[in-house]
Amino acid sequence: MDRVLNYIDGNWTEASDGVFFDVINPASGEIVAKAAKGTVDDAKRAIMAAKREFYENKNGWRRFSAVKRSEILLKIADKLESLRDEFARTETIDNGKPLREAYGDVDDAVSYIRYYAGAIRMPSGASYEVNDGFGPMHSYTIKEPVGVCGLITPWNYPLLMGVQKLAPALAAGNTVVFKPSSETPLSTVKFFEILAESEMPAGTVNLVMGGGSTVGSAISESPDVDMVSFTGSTEVGQSIYRAAAVNVKKIGLELGGKSPNVIFADADLDGAVEWAMMGVFFNQGEVCSAGSRIIIEESIKDEFVKRLADRADKMVLGNGLENPDMGPLVSKSHMEKVLGFIEKAKEEGAKVVCGGYRYTEGQCAKGYFVRPTILDNCSNDNIAVKKEIFGPVVTIQTFKTEEEAVKMANDTEYGLAGAVFTKDGARALRVIKEIRAGITWVNCYNPAFVEAPWGGYKKSGTGRELSFEGLEEYTETKQITINLNPGELSWYKKR
Ligand code: NAP
Ligand code: MG
Repeated sequence: MDRVLNYIDGNWTEASDGVFFDVINPASGEIVAKAAKGTVDDAKRAIMAAKREFYENKNGWRRFSAVKRSEILLKIADKLESLRDEFARTETIDNGKPLREAYGDVDDAVSYIRYYAGAIRMPSGASYEVNDGFGPMHSYTIKEPVGVCGLITPWNYPLLMGVQKLAPALAAGNTVVFKPSSETPLSTVKFFEILAESEMPAGTVNLVMGGGSTVGSAISESPDVDMVSFTGSTEVGQSIYRAAAVNVKKIGLELGGKSPNVIFADADLDGAVEWAMMGVFFNQGEVCSAGSRIIIEESIKDEFVKRLADRADKMVLGNGLENPDMGPLVSKSHMEKVLGFIEKAKEEGAKVVCGGYRYTEGQCAKGYFVRPTILDNCSNDNIAVKKEIFGPVVTIQTFKTEEEAVKMANDTEYGLAGAVFTKDGARALRVIKEIRAGITWVNCYNPAFVEAPWGGYKKSGTGRELSFEGLEEYTETKQITINLNPGELSWYKKR
């Protein structure tokens, strides 16, 4: 059995108390590895290493030229690409997702690293005309790294969410303490094997696996961490936000969602069904931006639901390595949570159109599978409409007017994503502009690109990832003003 270790200050190490935790394959329930369960002491050691490297190493990572950092990142991307098969299989075994989706994640991760390797060489900062009573002066801005960044990730896209943070953080010259989700640490460990072989000085990147309430809290509470970037649930995000106040950390929060998918009667119905499937059943529905609330014009509801249910019922569930339509949920406890939501939703009046139960046929007997589930008859206060379920469960609600559709779409504490399907271009733009969410789609659902920003309104978070905006998050802006006439000392006379 593989035993995987933490990586602190350039060394692979066991936890300070020698404890390991089980890493489980959710398709079978089998233990596939033992991972070092980092402690608060381990987190502190990693933070001090990252701090020393950032603030004291005169030849440290942030002093490498942007060109040099870029070249190192490009080599890391090449290495990751060359290990594509190994990474994809590891991700599927640990998380459960179908292998082809895991391949997509590895390809995206490679592309993200290359993007930020290029982005850091692009122009940045701005120049300002500031001549006023002070005489001839000029101001401009430069971007500098923030310092020690604590990066904390969830289990749904373990490698990709990690790279989404690591690539811009490192490109900008920061040092890092990284905590992956305890459900899915394996691809991160593999990625750190690549980082460990790169030319980064010891202490630049540190990996500490372990619990959120121990390692995660130690990172967010530490006065020696300058920034925390977190992706995960809104509840944990709120506690991290509070902890970050200790030294007014810079903060990035990519949190939960309950995103509306609004479908008008004039939409291309086949297309809408196809994208709705992608919207809520991709990655087992374990997607922050999932289109988990279908809000559909009443006149086409029956036909739409029939077609969607036909498709959902045909989905093949199985071990991700065999490329089924859908894999297992990430863990037993998460499966139980999803099934609990379905039961409660039924009690509150939802009608199950398809799915709604644990699937245990054939090879799925021991895994954590839930059939793709459609819940009809959902009132706006049904638990399945209100709460993020983070599984293959979609609710159906109907509207008669555009105004009603918008109101329903916005009746949520979240604001991550949303979509509208219609052939009427003006209406599409009207509705999208009214939806209070950070990521929106017209006549499609869920495509994401490294070139375009990603992040939420309301309780879905603060800050943006991906794109140039994602790089900016990992920088501070320094304003520099130059006196163009140093001999002139009469400023006080002018005031
Ligand atoms: P989670 O329970 O919030 O955990 C996320 C990470 O935070 C894990 O590494 C977890 O560690 C750690 N953590 C837990 N408690 C902590 C604490 N008190 N202090 C610091 N860290 C702590 O979320 P999840 O169940 O892994 O992921 C699902 C959630 O992520 C969903 O809400 C989903 O919407 C959201 N998500 C959002 C985006 C986005 O871009 N907006 C993307 C993906 C996922 P352990 O679990 O190891 O204890
Ligand atoms: Mg696992």
